[in-house]
Amino acid sequence: MSRAYNFSAGPSMLPESVLKKAAAEMLDYEQSGQSVMEMSHRSKVYDGIIKGTENLLREIMEIPDNYRVLFLQGGASSQFAMVPMNLMTKSGKADYILSGQFSTKAYQEAQMYGDVLAVASSKDENFSRIPAWDESKFRADADYFHICLNNTIYGTAFGKLPDTGDVPLVADISSCILSKPIDVSKFGLLYAGAQKNMAPAGLTIVIVREDLLGTPMEKTPSMFNYKLLSDNESMYNTPPCYSIYVCKLVLEWIKDEIGGLEKMAERNMKKASVLYDFLDSSSLFKGCAETASRSIMNVTFVTGSDELDSKFCKEAEAAGFVNLKGHRSVGGMRASIYNAMPPEGIDKLVAFMKEFEKENA
Ligand SMILES: *Cc1c(COP(=O)(O)O)cnc(C)c1O
Repeated sequence: MSRAYNFSAGPSMLPESVLKKAAAEMLDYEQSGQSVMEMSHRSKVYDGIIKGTENLLREIMEIPDNYRVLFLQGGASSQFAMVPMNLMTKSGKADYILSGQFSTKAYQEAQMYGDVLAVASSKDENFSRIPAWDESKFRADADYFHICLNNTIYGTAFGKLPDTGDVPLVADISSCILSKPIDVSKFGLLYAGAQKNMAPAGLTIVIVREDLLGTPMEKTPSMFNYKLLSDNESMYNTPPCYSIYVCKLVLEWIKDEIGGLEKMAERNMKKASVLYDFLDSSSLFKGCAETASRSIMNVTFVTGSDELDSKFCKEAEAAGFVNLKGHRSVGGMRASIYNAMPPEGIDKLVAFMKEFEKENA
């Protein structure tokens, strides 16, 4: 068996030890005589899995006690509507920073529900950097302020956070959750689709400050009502049971094998700098994101020639480096180097790029 180095933006690689453990437990989970795929979500054994996952997530992310953790479905994209439906209920206003395609989608979705303002945007520069913002433009009576912390498609990430005062900061952290420590107390709400850095697709995590749970807009579907979902401990209906279980294995991997989020961050920073250092010194390849806005999870780069870009992707794939083709809106290449990408995957990719550079100079 040979496993590829998979640079997919999501769904993406999972740690090999996690896949092995899931395989070993496939037919009989902890002497229950059942696979986790088969068991009732109301069973005692499953209760241990979902509670264990929440406890581990709280411990690893240091989530304060006044925050609830929800295990939902519908992807990060459902949160584009759920956030306004639940939070845009006082002034009916919300401010957004547009730093890429997902934050733009979130902004457009929110427009259906109230008075939504884009306070900053880097669209004119094809989102190659995090836009500068002017805090005097932020509306003090907004119900929340939305950002996307890591822009998966463009390979950019926020360094510092906007100061929103008393307005709750809401962040899409789909492609950077668990990549490094994050001060949860600075946010009113965090959400993430799990398929980038946590688990297989199907699970969406919401971390929300208790005081923001209240009465959603009229006619909000029950399945979109944070308060109802929270009161039912994410069991209003059947949760994505198997994805939650794999998420627990991933959290155990972070805690026991990596040693927590500080260590995870160190490892990720090292991995990213190997690739960026090469891009900065290369005569053929060039990074797309502005240096100060670079993401440590998604690295976008080009050769400057569409022809060479596709030749590179093709040859890389044949050599076992798969899913390097960039998003259609940026072109070129994108290496998504999430937590599960081992450091040697990057070392080998850079060696391959050097070889390609020599042959195509
Ligand atoms: C992948 C991604 C999304 C979309 O997630 P779905 O779970 O497919 O809805 C949204 N935001 C960011 C930042 C992403 O990386």
